[in-house]
This record gives sequence, structure tokens and C-alpha cells, in this order.
Amino acid sequence: MVLLTPDDSSRSLAERTGAHSDIVTVTSREQISPNLVQVELTHREIEKFAGTAGNDVMVRVNHDGNYVRRRYSVRSVDAASTSMRLWISTAHHGPGAAWASSINAGDRVDLIGPRGKIALDERADWHLFVGDLTALGAFYRLAESVEAPGRVIFVVELDSIDDAVTPVLDEGIGPTAIFIERRSRALGDPSALLSALAAFDVPDGEGHAYLFGEFSTVRTIKTALLDRGFEESSISLKAFWRAGRQNAEHGEPPKEEI
Ligand SMILES: Cc1cc2nc3c(=O)[nH]c(=O)nc-3n(C[C@H](O)[C@H](O)[C@H](O)COP(=O)(O)OP(=O)(O)OC[C@H]3O[C@@H](n4cnc5c(N)ncnc54)[C@H](O)[C@@H]3O)c2cc1C
Repeated sequence: MVLLTPDDSSRSLAERTGAHSDIVTVTSREQISPNLVQVELTHREIEKFAGTAGNDVMVRVNHDGNYVRRRYSVRSVDAASTSMRLWISTAHHGPGAAWASSINAGDRVDLIGPRGKIALDERADWHLFVGDLTALGAFYRLAESVEAPGRVIFVVELDSIDDAVTPVLDEGIGPTAIFIERRSRALGDPSALLSALAAFDVPDGEGHAYLFGEFSTVRTIKTALLDRGFEESSISLKAFWRAGRQNAEHGEPPKEEI
């Protein structure tokens, strides 16, 4: 069946959240590293869906005959070619990962966007991005919007070091990247990220930390940064997924304590 119009639920969710809803077309799917797929989407008004750096979009995907929404950060948008790119982690089994692994050019997608409230802190002299593979798209779009002479620091845990793809940064931006391979550590174990952060001297000036990734990990990292003297207002945190739990139908990880 060819999708011609968004589902009524998508229209009303978009209305409630001040976003846009429509059917967009897949132009390509490319495996850019062992666990990362780039999906390119097109729509005549793609910029409206892409919002600003830090925003994401919601896709409606079929899950055993039922529909769920999954959220993916916009990696980049190109108004001239009316296209946007998403970077999607496929290192696990779930409806979103299955969708990203199986779509093809020409497929149509029920899309809502822009979503999300976290934006670049324009006042910061340096920006610290901590998380995992699911966060790379958001981290790199944010970092690419930093103006010289800003500094960007990435501390990212990956299932495979071959997933350590890099961004294209303006000249004059001082980048530091620490990629850590997960090896035998369990999903949701923050110890490697904590060790990497502990060994890292933060630069002088005002900094802002962006913590995106696994639910418990990002919370633990936030506590470690607060202990280290970060102000609450200098930390932006978003749980993207939760170890051992499926994201809910609306695309967010469950927040209740177990
Ligand atoms: C605002 C926002 C932005 C996001 N942006 C991106 C993005 O740009 N790219 C991206 O890849 N993801 C992104 N995510 C995360 C993505 O939406 C979730 O990982 C989503 O749950 C994947 O859905 P799924 O259906 O594949 O798996 P689910 O149905 O959610 O989970 C199935 C199982 O897989 C496990 N699992 C889920 N994700 C992972 C993972 N990454 N690694 C290991 N195990 C996992 C779960 O614990 C569960 O056991 C974002 C999430 C949010 C809320």
C-alpha cells in the first residue's frame, strides 16, 4: 500500500506539539559504518521538518501489525536538494532498527518534525558531547553549528571502533574526540565514559555539556559532572533509549523506576 497522507494521529500530534506532519520519500539508505545507517529523506519543504541543530523527527513504523513512533535526530539538512539525513544505530533488534535496515529508495514515511527542545548554548566557549552511537547525528549537527573559535569535545562509547565516523567542522574550531569501544561492558554501564571524563581536563571558560544516549548512563554522567562543579543550567540531558526496555509507542524510553 502506498502512503499518500499522514495518519490522523500524526496530524493531531503535530498540531499539539507545534510541528509539521506529512509523507516524505526515502531517497537512499547507506551503511556508513558497521552499526550506523544513513537514511536520506526528501520533501519539498524539508527545512520545516528539520528545525535547528539538536532537533529530531518522529517516524511511524510498523511493529508486528501495530504502529509505533521512533525519534531520530536530524544529522543534516540541505534546502537546495530538499533533503535531510538521519543517522540510525542498528546494533540491536527493535522496530526502529528493523525499519532503518530494510527501507529502500522510493519508500514513503509518515514523518513529524521538528521535535525536541535542546539547542546549542550560544554563550558557551566550549561544548562537551557525551553519549553513544545513537547521539552522533545530533552531536555532529550541533558541533557543526558552533562558530570559531569555539571548542568541541566528544566522549562517545561505541560497539565497534569502526563506527567512529567524524564530522566536518569549520576551520577555527578546536575538536577533541575520545572514542571508547564497549568491549564486554554491559549496555547501560557508564564506567568507561566516567573514566574517560575523569581523565580529561576541561578547558578554561564557560562550557556546556550535552548528554544523549542510554537512560541510566546519561543520568550517572550528569551526577558526575555536577560533582565536578558543572551548573545544572550548563547540562542538557536527553535519554534516547533504555537498556533492556523498549522505547514506548511515542518514542521515548520508559522513565519509571524498576
Ligand atoms: C529525542 C530522541 C532522538 C534520538 N535520536 C536518535 C538518532 O539520531 N539515532 C539513533 O540511532 N537513535 C536515536 N534515538 C534513539 C532511538 O529512537 C531509540 O534507540 C529507539 O528505541 C530505537 O528503537 P527500536 O525500535 O530499534 O528499539 P526499542 O524497541 O526501543 O528497543 C528494543 C530493544 O533494543 C534495546 N536497544 C534500543 N536501542 C538500543 C541501542 N542503541 N543499543 C543497544 N540496545 C538498544 C532496548 O533496550 C530494547 O531491549 C533517539 C531517541 C530520542 C528520544
